[in-house]
Parts: sequence; structure tokens; C-alpha cells
Amino acid sequence: MHRLCCSAMNNAVNIASALAQVRQNITSACQQRDPAHILQAQVTLIAVSKSKPAADIRQAYGAGQIDFGENYLQEALSKQQDLADLAIVWHFIGPIQSNKTQAIAQHFAWVHGVDRVKIAQRLNEARSAMPQPLNICIQINISGEASKSGIAPAQLDELFSAILSMPHLRLRGLMTIPDPSLNSAQLGQQFGQMRELLHSLNQRYASQLAQPLDTLSMGMSSDYPLAIQQGATMVRVGSAIFGERHYNSLSAPN
Ligand SMILES: *Cc1c(COP(=O)(O)O)cnc(C)c1O
Repeated sequence: MHRLCCSAMNNAVNIASALAQVRQNITSACQQRDPAHILQAQVTLIAVSKSKPAADIRQAYGAGQIDFGENYLQEALSKQQDLADLAIVWHFIGPIQSNKTQAIAQHFAWVHGVDRVKIAQRLNEARSAMPQPLNICIQINISGEASKSGIAPAQLDELFSAILSMPHLRLRGLMTIPDPSLNSAQLGQQFGQMRELLHSLNQRYASQLAQPLDTLSMGMSSDYPLAIQQGATMVRVGSAIFGERHYNSLSAPN
């Protein structure tokens, strides 16, 4: 066998075994949850495939992975074309520019980073052409970092009630990316604050919600077990499955 073949095969084995390891870590984190922190029995693993080729996604799918997360629209659309034969659930997890909302609403099942009324309105309009509403998580800037996207918990209610009135969006819950420089005690505390925030929304808006919010999208390669212990229902894991990425946010495509 020639080299290309073997390295592609190694890659497939690596992705499948990394996925198995992540799934095992998710199972043990689920067993360590305080029963009071359990929002959903199952935790959904989103495999974050930004910067990785369609072939890697196909390998992960072959190993049973269904949900994939992408950050950059053009990159995602080209991979979606290559993978159109697979029943993948696509999650848009990157920052959302308003000129991209049309395509995002039409090519993804979930959008995790909604933090402005204007963006929500545009997604809602663009989704009206489709039978199923778009699943939405509101991004919270839980660490209060000045440079980060996401809204402050204190500003949440206005955006929340606005989205509730949009018929083509289905509000599922909250998403966050905490300050990566925090230690694990601080991270655990902020993940816990997210759970409390979701709980309080479910209580305060009970009469307006067709179904209670069921989603806390939090936890990445470095901290997903901790996030799960605090109530995460969706974790977004990239490098622990696919290996290191070779572009940074400055050189990344849109
Ligand atoms: C890239 C990214 C991830 C995955 O990061 P890893 O550290 O590679 O697991 C998760 N969530 C968001 C929003 C991302 O941009």
C-alpha cells in the first residue's frame, strides 16, 4: 500500500478512537452529575470540524457521529456539498455576521451564538421558507469579558422575549464560552451560573414557553467533563476528536 492510503487509514483509526475516548469521558462525567444538575439524561456531542477536511467528517460519521459544528459559513457550505449524502445535523457555532444570516438559516439545524435582536430577526425571516423552525441558543458572556460576543445576563430578558415572538425560531436554551484563563473552580462556578440562569428563565417564562428550555451548550475539549457535571446538555468538542487546528481566527475564512 502506498503512503497516502496508510496515512488516510491511520487518520480514520485516530478519529474513531478519539471519538470513543470522548464518548467514554462524557459517560463518566454524566455519572458524576449531581442529580439536581441533570436537565436531560443524554448529553449531545457536537464534533467541531472547523479547519478540518470533509474526509475527516466522513470518518467521524462512519464512527457514529451525527452532530457537527462549524464556525465559518463558506467553509461549512463547501463541506456540506461534499457530504450531502450523509444525514448530518449541522450546528453553526461561530460569530454571526448579518450578511450571512440568510445562508446560515437555510443550511443549519441549530445556531448557537445568537446575541442580538437584529440577528435573530434576520434568521427568523430567512427561515420562514422552511418547514421546521431553526433551533436557537442565546450566547451569554458569562465571564464578562469585554472582547467577547454574547450578552450579559442582565440584558438577557429583552432578547429572550423578542425571540419568543419569532415563529420560525425555536428557542432551545443558552450557550457560553467562558474565559479560557479561568481555573477549574472558577469555570465550574460559571457553568453552574449558566444552569441557574436557564432554570430561572424556565420558571419566569413558563407560561410563554411551549416547551421548557432543554439546552445548555457549554464545554469544549479542555473542559467538557466539568461542563457536564454542571449541567451541560450539548458539548462542542473539536481538537480532542480531530487533533490540533492549523489556522487561527485571524487567518480563518468566512
Ligand atoms: C472551536 C470551537 C469549539 C471547539 O474547540 P476545541 O477546544 O477544539 O474543542 C467549541 N465551541 C466553539 C464556539 C468554537 O469556536
